[in-house]
Amino acid sequence: MIETKVKTTIKKIKLFQKEKILVALSGGKDSAVTCYLLKKFGYNIEGFHINLSMVEYSDKCLKAVEDLCEQLKIKLYVYDIKKEMGSGMCYLRGMIQSKKSLKNCAICGVIKKWIMNREARGLKADKIATGHNLDDEAQTFLMNIFKGSPELSLNSGAISRNVGDKKFVARIKPLFYVPEDEVRKFSKKQKLPVIYDKCPCALDSYRIQVREFMNTLPDKDKLNILKNMERMLGKVGKKNERVSYCKTCGEPTRKEVCKMCELMGMK
Ligand code: SF4
Ligand SMILES: [Zn+2]
Repeated sequence: MIETKVKTTIKKIKLFQKEKILVALSGGKDSAVTCYLLKKFGYNIEGFHINLSMVEYSDKCLKAVEDLCEQLKIKLYVYDIKKEMGSGMCYLRGMIQSKKSLKNCAICGVIKKWIMNREARGLKADKIATGHNLDDEAQTFLMNIFKGSPELSLNSGAISRNVGDKKFVARIKPLFYVPEDEVRKFSKKQKLPVIYDKCPCALDSYRIQVREFMNTLPDKDKLNILKNMERMLGKVGKKNERVSYCKTCGEPTRKEVCKMCELMGMK
C-alpha cells in the first residue's frame, strides 16, 4: 500500500516532524501525491512551484498547484521564471541549444535544480521533497548504465547523498519505492487537482524508448533495479567529493563554475 511504502521511506531517511520541507510542485500527480501524504502524516510542509512560462501548459500547471495548496491549506511560493530571469523556459532552452547539443529535459532539469536549491535556502527550508517515483528512478539508473556513465547515479537515492554542505538543501524522494501506476491510481482515487497531460517539451526519444521498455516490466523487476542500484552505491560508499562554490553565482558545485552558469554562458 502506498502509505506504508512512503512511511517506510520516511523512516529510512530520518525525516523529522519539525523540519521545514518545501515540496517541489509541478502540477502533476507525483508531486501532488507527495505533498498530500506528507501533509497527512503531519509534516511541516510548504509548496514551491516554478512557473516555466511554457504557454497554456504552464497556466494549467499553476492552476492545479494553487488548487492543491488551497485544498491542503498550505503556503505556496511561486517562482515565475519569466519575471525572475527575463525569459520563459522555451526561450532559455532555445538560446542554450543554439550553442550546445543538449536535450530539453537535461537543460530544464539543471535550471530547475539551481532555482530550487537557491530559493529553498532563502526560505530556510531544511529539505526539498520531489515527486520522483520508482519508475523515474529505475529509468534514470538504466539510462546511465546504457550510456556507460553509471557514476551519474552516484548521488541517487531516497535522500541526496551530498548533504554535508551548508549551501546545499538536501533533496528527498518520498515516492522512491512507489511504482508510477500506484501513484496514478492513488491520485485519481483522492481526486487531487492535477494535470495528467505530458509536458509538451518532454521530447527525449531515448528516454521515451527506455520508458516504453520499462513499461513492459512488472513492478517487482523495477524494484529490483533500484535495490541493485542501492547495493552498488553502498559498495561505492558515500561520495566524498569536495563541494566548492561557483565563482560566478556562488551556488554549491563540484567544479569551478556550476552547470547552470556553464549553460547560461556565464563563465
Ligand atoms: S518534462 Fe522535461 S521539459 Fe518538461 S518540465 Fe519536466 S524537465 Fe522540463
Ligand atoms: Zn553558478
